[in-house]
Amino acid sequence: MEEYVFELLDMGVLWRVYGGGALATDIAPYRLLSFLWEFRKLYPRWKPSVDILRAVLMGAFLKTYNQTSIEKQYPAVRDLSQLILWLEATGDFREDALRFIRWHAFLLSHSTRNAGERLRDAVDFAQWFELTSAGSLGEFTPNVEQFTNRETQKYRWREDRIACTRTRVEYHLNMVGAEIMNRAFRVSFLPADRKAVLVPGCMRSRPEKECQAIHVSEGLCCKGCDKTCHVNRLRAMGIKNSFDVFILPHASDLSRWASKPGSPSKGVVGVACLTTLIGGGWELKRHGGPAQCVLLNYCGCKKHWDPKGIPTELDMQEMKRIFNILPRAGAS
Ligand code: SF4
Repeated sequence: MEEYVFELLDMGVLWRVYGGGALATDIAPYRLLSFLWEFRKLYPRWKPSVDILRAVLMGAFLKTYNQTSIEKQYPAVRDLSQLILWLEATGDFREDALRFIRWHAFLLSHSTRNAGERLRDAVDFAQWFELTSAGSLGEFTPNVEQFTNRETQKYRWREDRIACTRTRVEYHLNMVGAEIMNRAFRVSFLPADRKAVLVPGCMRSRPEKECQAIHVSEGLCCKGCDKTCHVNRLRAMGIKNSFDVFILPHASDLSRWASKPGSPSKGVVGVACLTTLIGGGWELKRHGGPAQCVLLNYCGCKKHWDPKGIPTELDMQEMKRIFNILPRAGAS
């Protein structure tokens, strides 16, 4: 139930942030952009070239206005389908779009008036959330607006333009979504036969060329070349507590983590920055993998955020909580 409430909230928030841009985008190669997103996932060696092409197409066609420029406060059902097309084309919101397609079909089964009221509820809910979350979660995101005001122009012709210029309310939305997902999927995650933590490459203490991790079918496997590396610390925790750790390149295909009938079930903990966390969790869920997620404490990867790259880290206490390995209160 909470999952569906969250989807509705997500729809309201994304309408308020991107609805204006989606409606202002008269014409765009939506299908080509979506295809290129899938293609780069399936054929990672083509990613650099595909990213250049996507950056040009996105910069030229996909308009992005924030909520202050939206003229229509509440969407009609046809506006929702326009938003879905736009979100899918960005690639960053593919999983959101897949969920909204179901909502769209659901709304079409209602009268125009009823459907309009449901959409109005979603947008009002999002407006309430924006105000409330600014008070309760705002202390974690004080620099987001400063960053976007300063850097948005720099990202204008980059493929990660939307991913790196998310609004503050989207950060808050992802925080809440992570907690809701963890609660909802925990029952199926805990009894899984095999468990693995998937971490991004930016958690490594050493640059990619110096990292000694080896390629295996599931990703990269840390060889423990640096005691201070956060991936290595997690690997050590995994050895003690029977879970594997794999480093995954950004935007990897997660379908290999699908639990197949008759095979041992796989529980996966995805570690990512806020902008990709929920999409990854939903993708794992779509493939039938019981997933949990843990946020990086901050963003720092070289490709998207910092020219030199800052090794990222996560809250190890939270990881222990996910695996039920926190010492009990009062135990010595
Ligand atoms: S400790 Fe592991 S992840 Fe970190 S740099 Fe070395 S091999 Fe790479």
